[in-house]
Formats: sequence, C-alpha cells, structure tokens
Amino acid sequence: MNRISLKNIKAFGYTGCLREEKENGQYFYVSVDMFLKDIPGAVSDDLTGTVDYSKVYKIAEDEVKTNRFDLIEHLAFVIGRKIIEAYDLIDSVSVTVSKPDAPIEGEFDTAEVMITVRRREAVIGFGGNMGDREEILKSAVKMISDDPAVELIKCSSLYETEPVGYEDQDDFLNGCLLIRTYLTPVELLHKLQAIENELHRVRTIKNGPRTVDLDLLLMTGVRLDTEELTIPHPRMYERAFVLVPLKEIGMYNGRIPDDKQVRYYGPFKPLN
Ligand code: ADP
Ligand code: MG
Repeated sequence: MNRISLKNIKAFGYTGCLREEKENGQYFYVSVDMFLKDIPGAVSDDLTGTVDYSKVYKIAEDEVKTNRFDLIEHLAFVIGRKIIEAYDLIDSVSVTVSKPDAPIEGEFDTAEVMITVRRREAVIGFGGNMGDREEILKSAVKMISDDPAVELIKCSSLYETEPVGYEDQDDFLNGCLLIRTYLTPVELLHKLQAIENELHRVRTIKNGPRTVDLDLLLMTGVRLDTEELTIPHPRMYERAFVLVPLKEIGMYNGRIPDDKQVRYYGPFKPLN
C-alpha cells in the first residue's frame, strides 16, 4: 500500500466536552495518513493522478475551526470522511487529532486519538415480485449507485424463482450487486431500508410479496451480529436465489441448495 501523509497541521478550534474548551478554544494538531492502492501520478508525474495536499490541509483546518464537537474522536472521523469523499483514489485514511493543552491535571505531552475511515467492498442482494419487477429493481440499483458514497463495481444477471416460505404469491426476480463504499455497515443498511421505503415496500406477511427487498449480504472484513444487523446475512447460505447470482459475480463458490429452481431470466443493465 502507498501512503501520503500530512503531519501536525496546526489549527485553533473549540472541540471538547468542557465549557471552557468550547468558550476559550485551544490549539489542535491534525495528522493525516492516506493509503492508496495506486498513485497514478507517481508514474506519470501528473498532478491530477494524486491527492492535492493543500486541499487536504484546508479540509482539516476548516473542520477544526468550525466545529464544536464534544469529542476529538468525532472530529477525527469527520475529517477522515471529508477527505475520503474528496478522492476516490484513497482506500483508507487515518486521522490523528492531538490536543496538547487538554484541561487535564498533571504532566503530559498531549491527548491524542487516531480514527481510520476505510472503503470496503459490499455485496447487496435484491429481489421483488410485485408490479413491473425489472423496472423497480432498476430504480433500486440506480438509487444505490447515485449515492456519492457508493461505487457500483459489478451487477449480476436477473434470476426468476418461485417464492420461498409463503407460497401463494408471484415468482420473484433476484440478483446481486458488488459495490465499494466508505459507509459503515449500519449506515449502508439504513440507506437500503430508506430505498425500500421509498419504493413502497410494505412489510405485512412474513416472507410475503414485496416490491423490493434489499439485503446486505457480505462486507469485506465485517462479521457482525446485533439485533439490527447480521453480516454475513444469516439466511443467505440456505437460499439458492441468493447464491446463484452471487456465484455469477464471483463472490461464492460453494454448494447451491436445490430445493427451489432458480431460472436464468436475462441480463440486467440497470444504469443504461
Ligand atoms: P428478509 O430479508 O429475510 O426477507 P426483511 O427484509 O423483512 O427479511 O428483514 C428483516 C430484518 O432483518 C430487518 O429489520 C433488518 O434489521 C434485519 N437484518 C439483519 N441483518 C440484515 C442484513 N444483513 N441485511 C438486511 N437486513 C438485515
Ligand atoms: Mg431484507
């Protein structure tokens, strides 16, 4: 991995949980380490093939000056987000915020945190069996890829499957997407739920008809099991309609359960 760093940017700001910190302010030092798989400018000597250090400096300085957060943890996170947002080239960024004059009794050099913001790959499964299925799935994928935090990498073909669980309903169309994003797993889930709601998904019967179901199946390096979100998706390995498209985009190479037939439906070009 290649690295570009800016060390100890000095700026005056008002982040801190004590009243005196918010009123009087103090100096902060910000260091930024940006990690990039490729720096095209290293080969081409072209300015556009790398990050603009003065722009990164400005982001860090502005965020320190203008925010009045309680925590330097959050300040570091917000700076990291702004920087990764500005450059697709950056895979991850670690931001160190240091407060040498923090109001702590006793002798110390500085109080400092480091927060890393990273892009990950994620796989999203989609399906629906109401209305114009293909058009609705197209809108869902467009809405996902329109988010500036998301890049679409691959999209599977569409597959048609008989309903699983509750069987008195129309056949489903399913597929999956590979994306790259700097959103956290929970932020991505909320994004998917907002899109489901916007496309009028109504949750009535369990496993019943739906205009669109969006599931977060996998995310690089993420294993999670909370009430709200489980990754990998807890039911994906039992579902042929998830595994078949997943296999097509190269994200699965195991056995496919054969209880329900998954039929190839056709190619899917949601962004054309
Ligand atoms: P299903 O996708 O199994 O058909 P729903 O779409 O109705 O069922 O999701 C039910 C709940 O599953 C949601 O409220 C959500 O919080 C939870 N959930 C847990 N893990 C995930 C995940 N990886 N992706 C999507 N939803 C998840
Ligand atoms: Mg779901």
